Amino acid sequence: MEGSTGRVAKKKVAVVGGGLVGALNACFFAKRGFDVEVFETREDIRLAKIVKGRSINLALSHRGRQALKHVGIEEKIVSKGIPMHARMIHSLTGKQSPIPYGKKGQVSLLYILTLLNFFLYNFGAAEAETYPNTKLNFDHKLQDWSVETGLMTFVRSDGSKKQTTADLIVGCDGAFSATRKQFLRQTRFNYSQTYIPHGYMELTMLPINGEFAMRPNYLHIWPRNTFMMIALPNLDKTFTCTLFMPFDEFEKITTGDQVIEFFQKYFPDTIPLIGVDTLKRDYFRLPAQAMVSVKCSPYHIGDKCVLMGDAAHAVVPFYGQGMNAGFEDCNVFDEIMDQFSEDLSAVLPEYSRVRVPDDHAIADLAMYNYVEMRAHVNSRWFLFRKYLDNLLHFLMPKTIIPLYTMVTFTRTRYHEAVAHWHWQNKVIHRGLLLSTTGAVLGGSYLLIKNPPNVNKLIIPAEKVWNRLMALRTS
Ligand code: FAD
Repeated sequence: MEGSTGRVAKKKVAVVGGGLVGALNACFFAKRGFDVEVFETREDIRLAKIVKGRSINLALSHRGRQALKHVGIEEKIVSKGIPMHARMIHSLTGKQSPIPYGKKGQVSLLYILTLLNFFLYNFGAAEAETYPNTKLNFDHKLQDWSVETGLMTFVRSDGSKKQTTADLIVGCDGAFSATRKQFLRQTRFNYSQTYIPHGYMELTMLPINGEFAMRPNYLHIWPRNTFMMIALPNLDKTFTCTLFMPFDEFEKITTGDQVIEFFQKYFPDTIPLIGVDTLKRDYFRLPAQAMVSVKCSPYHIGDKCVLMGDAAHAVVPFYGQGMNAGFEDCNVFDEIMDQFSEDLSAVLPEYSRVRVPDDHAIADLAMYNYVEMRAHVNSRWFLFRKYLDNLLHFLMPKTIIPLYTMVTFTRTRYHEAVAHWHWQNKVIHRGLLLSTTGAVLGGSYLLIKNPPNVNKLIIPAEKVWNRLMALRTS
């Protein structure tokens, strides 16, 4: 269709949810020339005097960066990040041992967000607004939409309603997506959600003498088997410490003294760094938050609606991939748009076909890491395997690739990374079994071929016996 300006009228895309994935998605669609409208429940965070909510600092790695790069904002965001080179494990005695993530240069870029992901929200909204074909509608909460007509109904904080339509609705409205509600009414739509028994609570570690209280370029971890604490640095030289613990354990602690007792038992090295008074106060500031894992499929309805980000796949935060996977969703969708020349009736089913197995794989991996981070990092076998995997990766970089490397530093499809990991685990375990068997057989053969001089063994034994007898009689 040709408009009065001579411009071919592009389809209208409504992005529901102006969070991390929604704002980036708006940039992707706007870059393609679509008419984009973003509808976000909250007021414009850039205008708010007081920003309510929590601060979460997020680890941005390769997949997320690639998506940002595609719309030309990678460097602007990366410049606001703090690079992380390794995990730093804190033992009960306060000993710190680094476990590198990958080869030199493979750093996970920690992207700092203060106050409710403030920076990214702020930045995402500002970036989307730089496109003239994009309109941001704050204080618009999606109430319902029609699969038949695409008519969406939004409610505003004053109770008024607004209705509008779009050719494509992109649901980026997070783990408790209102867009997804329509999907639940469709046949052959699969959906599951799992709350893990753990909750999380954030505590702040202030700078000491104007400097970071701990070494900044690390993800600090205090693994304590059934629970753990992590700490990530912020640009203002504070650390955000996140305590992950079963809800019933959180509930057992009801007084300030109990908080200190608990920290003295499990995280003694953090007490002087966080401070007794701060700990007593911050522990009760906000209740622990729940974590949910959501899986569903397919991600689309006809050529009308598609889900991305947490709306499609909320994952527990233990692989640091939730946002990265959501950003990659935008990238993958864009690649498929090229492949099918923007024919939405072909793009949407293909997107579901390609993306569902990958997002399900990262949801499972995040659950796996939930145990690895708090329990396995304490085990010698885990450390040995990390060492061995890194060594084999060094010797055979294309064949043996540590799982974390594939997930965090490449765009290997998540489900392929998992399949490769299973394959290489099998190969490594067989190799270890073979070399152990070989060593035992070889040793036995050498012992049989060159039997040790028994007299040499008996003489010291005699000496020991005589020494014992002498001791007994003295
Ligand atoms: P959200 O960020 O939830 O945004 C959804 C938006 O939709 C919100 O702005 C909301 O107001 C809006 N909305 C909701 N309902 C409606 C409606 N009805 N109408 C209109 N708008 C609506 N990921 C990483 O990659 N790395 C990490 O290190 C990492 N760490 C994490 C640590 C913790 C403790 C947690 C909880 C998560 C972590 N994540 C991490 C995951 C990451 O935060 C999420 O994956 C990411 O925020 C998802 O972005 P989203 O835009 O899909 O959803």
